Amino acid sequence: MYIVPNHLESWVEVPAGSDFPIQNIPFGVFKTTSNPSPRICTAIGDYVVDLAILSDMSLFDDLDIAPDVFRADSLNPLMSLGKDVNTAFRKRIVELLSKDNEELKEQSWHFLHPMEKVEMLLPVKVGDYTDFYSSMEHARNVGTMFRDPNNALLPNWKHIPVGYHGRASSIIVSGQDIHRPCGQTMPLNADAPVYGPTARLDFELEMAFVIGQHTELGDTISTGEAENYIFGLSLFNDWSARDIQKWEYVPLGPFLGKNFASTMAPWIVTLDALEPFRVKGPEQDPPVLPYLQYEGDKNYNIHLSVEIETESGDKKVVCESNFKYMYWNMAQQLAHHTVNGCNVNVGDVCASGTISGPEPGSFGSMLEIAWKGTKPVQMPDGTERKFIHDGDTVRMTGHCEKDGMRIGFGEATAKVIPVKK
Ligand code: CA
Repeated sequence: MYIVPNHLESWVEVPAGSDFPIQNIPFGVFKTTSNPSPRICTAIGDYVVDLAILSDMSLFDDLDIAPDVFRADSLNPLMSLGKDVNTAFRKRIVELLSKDNEELKEQSWHFLHPMEKVEMLLPVKVGDYTDFYSSMEHARNVGTMFRDPNNALLPNWKHIPVGYHGRASSIIVSGQDIHRPCGQTMPLNADAPVYGPTARLDFELEMAFVIGQHTELGDTISTGEAENYIFGLSLFNDWSARDIQKWEYVPLGPFLGKNFASTMAPWIVTLDALEPFRVKGPEQDPPVLPYLQYEGDKNYNIHLSVEIETESGDKKVVCESNFKYMYWNMAQQLAHHTVNGCNVNVGDVCASGTISGPEPGSFGSMLEIAWKGTKPVQMPDGTERKFIHDGDTVRMTGHCEKDGMRIGFGEATAKVIPVKK
């Protein structure tokens, strides 16, 4: 593990409130119009740092990382090198960007790009995608709306980090538009289903963790080992079509209502960067089975917010939540995922499930915010939202803050456009 000292500063100017001080050093993949081949990068202040160029300058020679890793179209080859190499790599990047190495400033035009001038790519090649359902407030809200307020949580919920296998092919990077999906729904009081565009397109505010080390079939990962297998975290919008979902999900769970798109932020923030922001999770009662028990603080204090921007440019923050609310932590999720011997691979993505807090205002989906359409959100332009309209842009952001240090995640943003003709 490497925690960047709080006082360390970079020779690159980092504006106040930036997501990317030298204490962060997240990883991503980018390209530019003048050089359209992908390279791996980090972020500092308002700049993207081309790590391939720093490698060409022989600045990582001691680490013995193959040149292909720097010019890969995903972080998978880098992650495959393992935690020790990755920690040393991140430490070296911090060294190069710290004030002690100010002489690099003179050559910075080689490797520093203003963020708005580059195109960020999907940071990982996702092999498998698993979606959990680990926020108790979210599960309780949904159970209250659709089943029975007195038995909102199903009997298994406090014993199992409930999850399902999702779709990897439709995970896209922030900035890509999504078409409104079509599907089969059962209108209220109708006796036959209909086909058409979803009328209940929704976001789900989630965090995703990326697997950085594989296991073999039959292997299990304990809660104590789990963090060694997690490369880092990213913001994640797990788009959902509620009407399609409602009609299809019994008995095998979500399918087409969930697999048309999930938007991932371009930056993976390492667990090392998040270390100072660990917090205790909610108390688990009843006690969980031994394989799900854990030691230490496994939740993270990450402020999350969701903003809707209308076609006309009006913006409204509709949710302020926090990753610390998760009932089941990532170590428990991974322990549960592999307890049957299911293998994981580098680049697999596991999402948290919608992150809702206890108060209205902290709910992580429109389904909950507008309470099944009964409490529409008033937008500044006078229109109202029960779900997401064509032309709306949904922007998720997240950051941690403590002792004057702020670590951010960039954003997971996507615009909804009409059904593809
Ligand atoms: Ca989800």
